Amino acid sequence: MARVVLIEDDVEIRRLVAAALSEQGHDVESAAMAMDGLQLAVKGSPDLVLLDLGLPDLDGTELLRMIRSVSEVPIIVITARGADDVVVKTLDAGADDYLTKPFSLKQLEARVRAVLRRGSAAVADGPIRVGELMLDAASREVTLAGDRLDLSPKEFDLLHALAARSGDVISKRELMAEVWREPYGGSERTVDVHLSWLRSKLGESAQEPRYLHTIHGVGVKLVDPSV
Ligand code: CA
Repeated sequence: MARVVLIEDDVEIRRLVAAALSEQGHDVESAAMAMDGLQLAVKGSPDLVLLDLGLPDLDGTELLRMIRSVSEVPIIVITARGADDVVVKTLDAGADDYLTKPFSLKQLEARVRAVLRRGSAAVADGPIRVGELMLDAASREVTLAGDRLDLSPKEFDLLHALAARSGDVISKRELMAEVWREPYGGSERTVDVHLSWLRSKLGESAQEPRYLHTIHGVGVKLVDPSV
């Protein structure tokens, strides 16, 4: 559960987003105007801010800068403008992620989950151990039974995303959102290809899995093979 501030002037979107996040167990406060939103974002010390860029009283990018100048709170920007330069500009201004309208509630929830997880991972960044597999996010080192594995950056991120929730089945779509930051438009084949590389580095195969298990039609999970 997180405390979320939603700054959005569209009544209908505000209602839908607030309802969806409340249903997920989050505590949502919302504002329709930039200045009210700024108050909530700064004074309420939330865990996450969702910020619509098209606000009536102030450009959302300006508000983003104002929040960022005083707070490290994760910010997901909501934009009707999907143009690359707008996205780049807002990420440069300190947004952690973005959603382009129209978005589905599933996309919203995946983004919120990923950003909140990154936030909590940054706080508690100890090594993760699953069976004989050890991952250290700080040094980006992986060992299997003490032997160092040579992984590409994306292979590491993928393995880390799975190891951080070992035992849970994670959908390929969610992995696209978290590792490649592409919840839509990206190809799940990308995940498959990286999984097969990881399998070969872990010395296993899809036919004889040990750590990495694909659950057909659902997703992937990493497990301790000795359990
Ligand atoms: Ca708007």
